[in-house]
Amino acid sequence: MSDKTSNPLFDPKRRKAQTMLVHGGMERSQHGETSEAIFFNSGFVYPTSGGAEARFKGEEPGHIYSRFSNPTVEMFQQRAALLEGAEAARATATGMAAVTTAVMSQLRAGDHVVAARALFGGCRFVIETYMPRWGVESSLVDGRDPENFARAMKPNTKVVFVETPTNPTLELVDIKAVAEIAHAHGAVLIVDNVFATPVWQKPLELGADLVTYSATKHIDGQGRAMGGLILGRKELIEADVHTIIRQTGPSISPFNAWVLLKGLETLPLRVKAMTESAAKIADFLADHPKVDSISYPFHPSHPQYELAKRQMGAGSTLVAFTPKGSKQAAFALADALAVIAISNNLGDAKSIISHPATTTHQRFTPEEKIEMDITDGLLRLSVGLEDADDLIADLSFALEQV
Ligand SMILES: *Cc1c(COP(=O)(O)O)cnc(C)c1O
Repeated sequence: MSDKTSNPLFDPKRRKAQTMLVHGGMERSQHGETSEAIFFNSGFVYPTSGGAEARFKGEEPGHIYSRFSNPTVEMFQQRAALLEGAEAARATATGMAAVTTAVMSQLRAGDHVVAARALFGGCRFVIETYMPRWGVESSLVDGRDPENFARAMKPNTKVVFVETPTNPTLELVDIKAVAEIAHAHGAVLIVDNVFATPVWQKPLELGADLVTYSATKHIDGQGRAMGGLILGRKELIEADVHTIIRQTGPSISPFNAWVLLKGLETLPLRVKAMTESAAKIADFLADHPKVDSISYPFHPSHPQYELAKRQMGAGSTLVAFTPKGSKQAAFALADALAVIAISNNLGDAKSIISHPATTTHQRFTPEEKIEMDITDGLLRLSVGLEDADDLIADLSFALEQV
């Protein structure tokens, strides 16, 4: 009789990433279901009162309440941690819940936080508006030069927060350099890795302490469910992050966790296909006479091309570009597209174009927009899973209308 326990692949750690994404974290119930089960329940029953007491005391393993833990959510967290190469992970209801929870878990009144100023709108709001309201001082710096972080550090700086590539202009932050600066001052570095995805960038390997995701983006990747993730070392996740989730409740629904868990199975396949198309589209746009400029980390015209090659595996699924003729041209172009939709999500199977200056970044003052390079002509394209030739033909037609 043969014995699979002597098969080297019996050990999950010997399996490659794509295999882990299909099988990792799987916990089958007594029914032996093929696909992961959705445990769509809020509470759990105990065999006896003594059993309940032991579980609450932490003397016996087991779930208590889905605000703290749930079997489906746990499968999602474990699978995500395997992909990231993180010791532990916690899922949240949205990407903003992940960022807010991660940042708050490391800060208290009297502390100071330094962040790159080019941030996703909600993230910038948390750092710039809420933190000072709660007695946490905040500084925003130009994240392209690590020296700016070094200059902003203070004795009470506890957190450095960055996003790279940034939304919407795809500027980069040197994660390794900024991690060294943060650690030299006793601060933790939190990286929002949504744009790069875990497929192309591993901030923990570069020195980050916590990584956050909006799982709403590439991890779902099909425009269905919202969710977020926080990943990192066991002690940060299981103490600080777990406690704040347990006590304040930004918890994810088991159903959403299940959708996102299934999304992880195909994440690298989708991200690689979308990236391949994005790189082709970046080349097409860069050479087009009606395009003023493009921003794509793996295009040689990117001012941080060398850094991109060093810290990312590929240029991501997004391309930012500016047609000649400012807002009027940008609107005319977007309105002439037949396949690419006007929307503000990203990382979706469907290609999406957005005009940041009048939508996601509308509330910023003209000075702030200039600071973040958000011009009136800037368009952000999230490349989907359609045939790249169709996307290029769609853009080509639309550019002729400009
Ligand atoms: C979308 C996004 C978020 C917020 O995520 P939600 O799931 O929409 O709450 C945070 N950071 C970045 C970079 C994002 O793109």
